[in-house]
Amino acid sequence: MTRSSVTFMEFKSSTVLSIRMTVTGDTLLKDSYGRTIRDLRVSLTDRCNFRCFYCLPHGEPPIAPKEQMLTYEEIERACEIFVSLGIEKIRLTGGEPMLRRDIETIIEKLAKLKGSGLLDLALTTNGYFLPERAQSLKDAGLDRVTISLDSLKRDVFKRMTGVDVLDKVLAGINAAKKAGLEPIKINAVIVRGHNEDEVADFAAFAREHGVKMRYIEFMPLDSGHDWSRTDVVSGKEIRERIGQRFPLTKIDIARGSDTSSRYRFADGAPGEIGIIAPVTEAFCGACSRIRLTADGQIRTCLFSTVEHSLRDVIRSGVSRDEVVDYIRSVVMKKEPRHFINDPGFVTPSRTMSFIGG
Ligand code: SAM
Repeated sequence: MTRSSVTFMEFKSSTVLSIRMTVTGDTLLKDSYGRTIRDLRVSLTDRCNFRCFYCLPHGEPPIAPKEQMLTYEEIERACEIFVSLGIEKIRLTGGEPMLRRDIETIIEKLAKLKGSGLLDLALTTNGYFLPERAQSLKDAGLDRVTISLDSLKRDVFKRMTGVDVLDKVLAGINAAKKAGLEPIKINAVIVRGHNEDEVADFAAFAREHGVKMRYIEFMPLDSGHDWSRTDVVSGKEIRERIGQRFPLTKIDIARGSDTSSRYRFADGAPGEIGIIAPVTEAFCGACSRIRLTADGQIRTCLFSTVEHSLRDVIRSGVSRDEVVDYIRSVVMKKEPRHFINDPGFVTPSRTMSFIGG
């Protein structure tokens, strides 16, 4: 095949293929259950400017001192090593990651890893800063954003998030669209007695704006430890509520390690539905995720009760090979599944805002 007959997409995928071929077999990060780790979530900060009642009902617990937080250079170094071990997706999160000063700087550094096998660089945000900053994130090399939006009603949004800024978040979604940070995903945590009556309205929003709406079951990761099973609106109920207004068709692709089961609108309308049901329909068997907290702890599961200090290893001045060995040994300890539904379940001491959702 002459170069001129190769389309850009063919060229791009063959480049990716050749990069991936260098990260195969022994090089890949595998856990003791044979799962390959492809997806890294990096928390940039524990701080948040929202007070979502399902996450930080009593405000922020004491924040780690600055010297315990990973610097941008340390994050870059860790991510470079993770990508050399086969990580294909990096999602920046928090806390509210956009509270970290000059987030564009770290995005720019991480975007360079796309030449080494990184395929996808994403950000999860509450959307508050997007009206002014969406374009600079895109210019720095960010591929796409996921934006949290728990209600389309001003009073409910305020009650759920603790802040009266629905308009700003909606403007943030528009700014992200304009900047091309697509496909845009919208996250809504559905909690009984708060927003389950809006489930179909969110689907209407997805259709109108051509975004991927993701409904998340309420998980026991709130700082108040107030979670109760009766507050959980199940994935099944969410599907039924949407289906009553907008018939859905399951997207017929292997789910793989995707957290959501995905649907399109049967009438062909734009937008997509994803249902993330870790409580009632656990999907741990194909989990490919690992997390790095803002203070440099590796967490092998959202619900881990132990953490592993990559920060201390990196700061001890050991060689790159030793850092790699440490990461491999931690990944081997990844839990087979979460234990939310077991009688002896212990809630992790850190909340979602500290773990990095
Ligand atoms: N500040 C950013 C945001 O608002 O998206 C990123 C961090 S936030 C912790 C990431 C995601 O975790 C959000 O979509 C949030 O709704 C979700 N989350 C937080 N606590 C949760 C819980 N107890 N159950 C389910 N999802 C939760």
